[in-house]
Amino acid sequence: MSFELSSRDYVAYLKKTAKHICDSGDYISSLDAATGDGDHWINMNMGLQALVEKGDRLAELPIDACLREIGMTYMSVVGGSSGVLYGGAYIAAAKSVKGMKTVDAEALGAMLMAMAQDMIARGKSQPGYKTMIDAIYPAAVRYQQELEKGTPEAELLRLVKQAALDGAESTRDMPAVRGRASYQLDKGVGHLDPGAVSMSYQLSDLCDYILENLM
Ligand code: ADP
Ligand code: MG
Repeated sequence: MSFELSSRDYVAYLKKTAKHICDSGDYISSLDAATGDGDHWINMNMGLQALVEKGDRLAELPIDACLREIGMTYMSVVGGSSGVLYGGAYIAAAKSVKGMKTVDAEALGAMLMAMAQDMIARGKSQPGYKTMIDAIYPAAVRYQQELEKGTPEAELLRLVKQAALDGAESTRDMPAVRGRASYQLDKGVGHLDPGAVSMSYQLSDLCDYILENLM
């Protein structure tokens, strides 16, 4: 028996992660001040607050329409690279679950991989370029590996969460190939990438939400 993630669940998760990101403002802003232009937290917080505001309406939609609406909101409300990258990724997520009423364990794996691949294509990036992709891609790969091995879902979710957090941590030693850090003399080496950190928080919150509420 797999968990089943509905739009209602997804909105409940978004509310939790919006609070987590909102409360991490000083930290995330300090990361982007070191390697970028300091607005990454403002961008993400603005997007997540806009989603929370329309949460009741999103919760009533089928999951594919819900994810598409999240993507369109990021595209229209959020500036910077994050708006385009999250917007595109959520629209790719919507396509990957087209026609489904809820997202089960297998579909969530496909959805995370679709999001990571869309970010790679849209950002003209690869894993290892010191971006948010370094949190979501290892998590999506780990998800596929554990699905193939038949790992029990609770264990799988804990491993995916850890892969996202480790992925964000791994950006510290990377020289940036994409994003504003790539224009710095030191390529941001020694600093965590803010986009990878905020992504790891959201993925870790998603795994926790499912573990705490749907199993
Ligand atoms: P901007 O770079 O336009 O100021 P944000 O501050 O909102 O946008 O987001 C910065 C984050 O976006 C970076 O920390 C990095 O994770 C991610 N990023 C920037 N450019 C790219 C890219 N080409 N591909 C993937 N991720 C990127
Ligand atoms: Mg920025």
